[in-house]
Parts: sequence; structure tokens; C-alpha cells
Amino acid sequence: MAEIICTSHGMQSISFTSMDISKIVTKKKKLDDLVVVKLVLHLPFEKKGTFWIDSDFLTTVVGIPFENTLKTYEVTDEERAFDIYTELHAVCSKCLKEVIARRLG
Ligand SMILES: [Zn+2]
Repeated sequence: MAEIICTSHGMQSISFTSMDISKIVTKKKKLDDLVVVKLVLHLPFEKKGTFWIDSDFLTTVVGIPFENTLKTYEVTDEERAFDIYTELHAVCSKCLKEVIARRLG
């Protein structure tokens, strides 16, 4: 598994997330207007991957309208799932967990 050197956590495994969440993780963007959705991708190289994304990513990259009641979205088509996967950004998995925990309270 790939690793990253985090300024807060040192050597850590990486997690993939949407651009906006990665900006929040790296403190280039504020947490305020973040709406998180759990994205489940059925990828060709691993059975199933779960990723945290924001509502903008869902609309612009995944291409489905966001609804407030939506908590999880699953893409079962492997080709489509892979295309979405390539749009994700790598971040420190511990930093990501902290951001998501703060958002979900
Ligand atoms: Zn970190």
C-alpha cells in the first residue's frame, strides 16, 4: 500500500478522496460548507472501495444530483467506477479521518 509523509502524523497510509475534501485536509479550504457522501466503487483491481466525497464531486464527477437524504452512493459498473476513481486525490488517511469525524460530528 502506498504511503505519504504527513506533517502532523509522519509516515501514513494514503486514502483517496474528492478534490474539495483533499483541500480541507491540507487546510486550503474551510470545512464549513462540506457535505460528505460515502461513495462505494466496484473496481476492477479490488472488490469494493469506499471513499468519502463531497456533494460537488457527486454532481460534477459522478454525475448524479445530490439530495440531502443521500448518505451513500454505489457505482457497480467497473468501467465507470474506475473513471471516477481516477478523479480522486491522495491524502493522509489519519488527517482524512479527522476531517470526516469533525463533519459527521
Ligand atoms: Zn496526517
